[in-house]
Amino acid sequence: MITKTDFLRYKQCCKYLWLYKNRKEEFDSTVGWIFDEGDEVESYACKLFPGGVSAFDDDIPAAVAKTKQLIESGQKTIYQPTISNWKLFCRSDIIKLNPKTGEWDIYEVKSSTEIKDIYLIDLAFQKICLNEAGMKIGKLYLVYVNNKYIRRGDINPEEFLYCTEVTGEVENLIDEVGMDIQLAHKVLDNEGEPKVVILKQCHSPYDCGFKDYCWKHIPEDSIYDISGSLSREKLEFLISKGIIKIKDIPAGMVTKPNGLRHLEAVKTEKVFIDTKAIKNELSELQYPLYFLDYETFGPAAPLFDGYRPYQRIVFQYSLHVKKSPDADLEHYEYLCREIKDPTSELAVSLRSAVGPQGSFISWNKSFEIGCNNEMGARCSQCADFLNSINDRMYDLMQCFKKGYYVHKDFKCSASIKKVMPVLVPNLSYKKLNIQEGGTASESWLKVTDSKINQDERDKLARDMLDYCQLDTLAMVEILEVLNKL
Ligand code: SF4
Repeated sequence: MITKTDFLRYKQCCKYLWLYKNRKEEFDSTVGWIFDEGDEVESYACKLFPGGVSAFDDDIPAAVAKTKQLIESGQKTIYQPTISNWKLFCRSDIIKLNPKTGEWDIYEVKSSTEIKDIYLIDLAFQKICLNEAGMKIGKLYLVYVNNKYIRRGDINPEEFLYCTEVTGEVENLIDEVGMDIQLAHKVLDNEGEPKVVILKQCHSPYDCGFKDYCWKHIPEDSIYDISGSLSREKLEFLISKGIIKIKDIPAGMVTKPNGLRHLEAVKTEKVFIDTKAIKNELSELQYPLYFLDYETFGPAAPLFDGYRPYQRIVFQYSLHVKKSPDADLEHYEYLCREIKDPTSELAVSLRSAVGPQGSFISWNKSFEIGCNNEMGARCSQCADFLNSINDRMYDLMQCFKKGYYVHKDFKCSASIKKVMPVLVPNLSYKKLNIQEGGTASESWLKVTDSKINQDERDKLARDMLDYCQLDTLAMVEILEVLNKL
């Protein structure tokens, strides 16, 4: 039996499906796959189709029986129906009977703000599955998020969601998906693990949780470190020639500047530093130096008035201040501990810690500048102050992005997570309970949740503050390393 999510795994990589069925113990669920089930927006989507009944049940046979019973009893709108025949299984989001034609329309809910090919494939699978279970299918729709919607009061599902008919687009895929279903069955019937060439499928369209398992044989400094600089065809060519290490890539294959710089660093095993360019780059900085980092949370369904779907709620900052080259380092921080719009409170807190002169330093400044613009648009009293920060903002990442400092262990990346361990090895995210921005972001809903025990929330708040603080401390120390060159 193949489920809808099995099939989506197969479409990403046939080995993904086989491993999931036969080597589940190797699956890393912290990395792997969050197939977009549209959970967050589904409750709003149901409001577009009032009068429906949910067929959901954790127990699959019970869910199938419940769906069957609802259909037989004449229920015309069913949420989360579970349909199964002897070889296919799927749980749809919403189905609605057209009484005139006796056909069921399928509505697939996605928390995305755009229509993606994989969603059409998803609907094609559902249509085949429901057809084979004996149901007549009419029109097919995608329900997804309108990213221009701005919340004012209660969320209005009619404005928050788009509902677009995609029957024609899905029909065009039915034959192909039908054949793929047969191939997926063959993969599952195989006793042996399918052999696949690793190209770019491990992260697209979803992160695959079998990477540790499949990538065991990939050596240090492999061609995958610069896969962003190589087309799929070039990767295929290199693999067909047995070339897996960067140093063996023939001349002329890598043309993108950052890929070329990394290739050179690996081949020569030398660190490339353009001290003159770095000095020039840093000459615009003026004391006091304010090292600033924000943490944000962007839910699909806006939590507060004035927010769009996925718009960032800036709930935390860390600020390190160096008033002069010899001054002691100062630290300021803010974390909103209540579920409310933190914009003005955060801006007031930040304003109390900074003066009218000096440079702000961030890593990938477009993020902080974007946050300031959005906060300023919502909070007119803060706008001038936040704009002044933007006018004084310098992006420390540029020294690395422009290739003024290239080390092979940056792995062709200018991310602070790659640069910090090389330049400032005494600092490490590994010692922290929160080690990356995604976890920090998700933590905000927990730290503000009064139903969670206070001690647990206090500990989480400390972890969040430690994480954000390390981001700005890392910038302080990286700048010191650059200044000493
Ligand atoms: S890690 Fe890559 S090669 Fe392995 S199963 Fe996943 S997608 Fe396929």
